[in-house]
Amino acid sequence: MYPSRIMTVASSFTGAPVLVNARLFDGTGAPVKDDATVLIRDGYISGESASLNARVIDLGRRFLMPGLIDAHTHLAEQPAIEIVEGMEPLRPGVKGHLVAAVAQRALRMGITTVRDVGARGDTVLEVRQAMRHGAFIGPRILACGRIVSATSPGGHHFEDMYREADGPDEMRKAAREQLRRGADFVKIMMTGARSVELENPGPAQVTREEVAALVDEVHRQGYRVAAHCEGLEGTVLAIEEGVDTIEHGFYLHERPDLLRQLAAQGGILIPTLSFLVDVAEQRHANWSEHLVERGVYNIEQAGKTLRAAIEAGVPIAMGFDSKPEEKAASELKLMVDAGMSPKDALVAATSTGAKSLGLHNLIGTVEPGKLADLIVVDGDPLKDIRVLVDPDRIHLVFRSGTAVAGTAIAPAFLFKRLCIKHIPP
Ligand SMILES: [Zn+2]
Repeated sequence: MYPSRIMTVASSFTGAPVLVNARLFDGTGAPVKDDATVLIRDGYISGESASLNARVIDLGRRFLMPGLIDAHTHLAEQPAIEIVEGMEPLRPGVKGHLVAAVAQRALRMGITTVRDVGARGDTVLEVRQAMRHGAFIGPRILACGRIVSATSPGGHHFEDMYREADGPDEMRKAAREQLRRGADFVKIMMTGARSVELENPGPAQVTREEVAALVDEVHRQGYRVAAHCEGLEGTVLAIEEGVDTIEHGFYLHERPDLLRQLAAQGGILIPTLSFLVDVAEQRHANWSEHLVERGVYNIEQAGKTLRAAIEAGVPIAMGFDSKPEEKAASELKLMVDAGMSPKDALVAATSTGAKSLGLHNLIGTVEPGKLADLIVVDGDPLKDIRVLVDPDRIHLVFRSGTAVAGTAIAPAFLFKRLCIKHIPP
């Protein structure tokens, strides 16, 4: 059993702490270090030794690891409330508050950074800005603005989530528009999507010239490119033209040579297994029969690709692509079930996640000089990865060196949705 240290923690979360008596998983894949000490100074992990007046937080041999990174999410698509007939229509300004609540619940579960890969409208950018101005504390948010896509059925389906563009010059302009909007990276649809009945994800949706122009523009300006890839034809173009992350990439097991090329050029695969299960098992929505069939097939394909990618040495990052965001770590269970070791799954959710975002100099590992985004877990995720989706097991969450959430300090109401009730006059 763990000693009860709640009062100690609660009284010491305002200053620069030194965490002692931790079982440390540093995110690099190195073995767990017992009896570890981590000093936090000015939001960063410090390599110095603790001074005499340091605020000591005894973790009682709890598991200490880097904050989780979800490299593929859609925050604004999360069901923060259930819409029922007769309810007051949502007012235009409410959406941002609901998305902020999604973000806060994610942080409560130790998700300290998310990469938002597509949202309708500008809500995610608004929420990110509100957070930067101190309106609430949530995970670090990287956003892509609109998804750049060729004129396509998906563009019709996801109005105001896509920026349709045709021809290399327009691709360049579409990418620049996202940077103008405040994007941290640019996402391109290389193929159709398995969530759109009108689309066949087989053929490439853009030409080589189009993707080359977009990658050139985005890289020249110092940003990264995420590529939605399902069918192999679009995936080949994406890898050959040097995108940074392959989102989904279910069929790559058929081309081990491409996996090796991806690994050699430092590309990262984000398998997003959870969404496939959503469709196959009709979770969160009533999917069409055709898409359910394809979903079942894709689960099998994605499992084969995960194993082939591990074999080929491709770095793999965790991307949930499902909901609710606070359960993002359930993706790790699917990755482990598909053949990844729990240790590698934790690496995917930490250091490789940071690399996929281009933030590996700042986050993803517990090392001097990194931001102190940390989770203290009651339990051992290496033995049972599911502890990371149990709110009672998330003891403390540090965001940039400050303890912001966890059972030691956070009120439980974050997990309860308040009902909208008629109040009698
Ligand atoms: Zn997605």
